[in-house]
Amino acid sequence: MTAPLPADEPTTFKRVSARVCVAVGAVEGERAASNSTILLGDEATMVVDTTVAPSLARVVKAEAERLGGRGVAYVLNTHGDPDHLLGNSEFPDAQVVAQRRVAELLANPSTLAAYQKRLDALGEGSVRTPDRTFDREMTIPLGGLSVVVTYVGPAHSVADSLVWLPEERVLIAADVVFNGLFPLVRDDLANWKAALAMALDLKPLVVIPGHGPVGDAATLNWQLELLERIEARIKEQIAAGAPLATTQESGVPQDFANLPLAKERWPAAVSCVYRGLADDP
Ligand SMILES: [Zn+2]
Repeated sequence: MTAPLPADEPTTFKRVSARVCVAVGAVEGERAASNSTILLGDEATMVVDTTVAPSLARVVKAEAERLGGRGVAYVLNTHGDPDHLLGNSEFPDAQVVAQRRVAELLANPSTLAAYQKRLDALGEGSVRTPDRTFDREMTIPLGGLSVVVTYVGPAHSVADSLVWLPEERVLIAADVVFNGLFPLVRDDLANWKAALAMALDLKPLVVIPGHGPVGDAATLNWQLELLERIEARIKEQIAAGAPLATTQESGVPQDFANLPLAKERWPAAVSCVYRGLADDP
């Protein structure tokens, strides 16, 4: 199952359950900008991921304040990639929460400088780092809505967390799911597949990916099968004795060549699988 991407359009808001509203990232050509999610508890509002730019985060913040009738109390970053946290500075009154490795990443001067450079190019904002971190799991109660955050990294990145909302049966999968797109395979494919298996066990009614349209449990299966197929194709090349560069240059196999970003992201997937086999033969 491949979810088709919508036609090019700006950030759109989609209410996926009584207390959850997704700001679906704009689609420009092959690129689907990151999604951001507004959680509306009885007592507090949270925004999960703050997009790639303060100007976009401002739109999400305005909608969160309008829907909740109050300010945003918490910001949660699902991982440390810039397209999920460069809007943090738009929430000066919120507590910013993330897994410990997100804070460690942002404490690295070269990462911080690279992120700030992106903000400087946009002409606004500064990198806002987490105020509060956790290691394995943390539950934040918002009033009638529990936010269960579980670290599942390294998977797509070193610091991925899943966000589960048991009362609504909604899962924010973040970049553990790229719906309808070729995934950015970079860190740990085995852990990534394990994270998807864990997500499937939750039996969510709604799955909010990091990029692409809102899906459901079938989207998790689609992502898992796609990762398995990508890995299998690359392992065939390894078994045939092809060096890494040859497999990268051979291009994307036909069965997923039509997915957006496949050509651009194929070399990273090849490197990741080759490295994984070298580490764990
Ligand atoms: Zn992302």
